[in-house]
Amino acid sequence: MSYVFPPAPQVSVPVAGSDARFPVRRVYCVGRNYADHAAEMGADRREPPFFFSKPADALVAGGSEVRFPPATDNLQHEVELVVALAAGGADIEPSQALALVYGYAVGLDLTRRDLQLAAKDKGHPWDMAKGFDQSAPIGAIQPLPAVGHPASGAIWLKVNGQLRQNGDLQQMSWKVAEVIAKLSTYVALAPGDLIFTGTPAGVSKVQRGDLLEAGIDGVGELTVRLV
Ligand code: MN
Repeated sequence: MSYVFPPAPQVSVPVAGSDARFPVRRVYCVGRNYADHAAEMGADRREPPFFFSKPADALVAGGSEVRFPPATDNLQHEVELVVALAAGGADIEPSQALALVYGYAVGLDLTRRDLQLAAKDKGHPWDMAKGFDQSAPIGAIQPLPAVGHPASGAIWLKVNGQLRQNGDLQQMSWKVAEVIAKLSTYVALAPGDLIFTGTPAGVSKVQRGDLLEAGIDGVGELTVRLV
């Protein structure tokens, strides 16, 4: 068997403390999973979790320069806890969900907010607002033995040294186990899947030249510069 042209390389993410890399299959994201961010977006604080996705090749390593995307005047940052799965399945019980986890990372769900708001108005899909090139910076994945299952601790983001987002993982409306379980009622999960679990309040507009620094207590830090 041969291909008509060489296939794209396997997307992967570094694993902290290891030379081996985490091979990525799919990238899912949770919308509005912190009540204070849902409120700043004008949404119901008690909404059940909903999901969207980004292409795996939208991932970009921490420490990189990220090209400011075209077709937006309102690019915004969303710092998020990312769950990396080592196993999958469908219709997973919340009590079984954490057994699928390989580890955790710090990620950014970069968002073209102007396109997202226009899509919401028209009932259009969010893909071009959320799933553009380099829209998912991610730090090294901390394997479970190193990090445990972080359920509390600061989750923050600075732009050019100024604190913009400063939440706590305890504020997640839907916890990691609930997110995995609910997502698995829509799609079969598999090893290599990543789930961005939503962002706390404080999202704001960024521009070319800005330095974005983000972190989660016990999980790590992530820095990118927009160019
Ligand atoms: Mn998000």
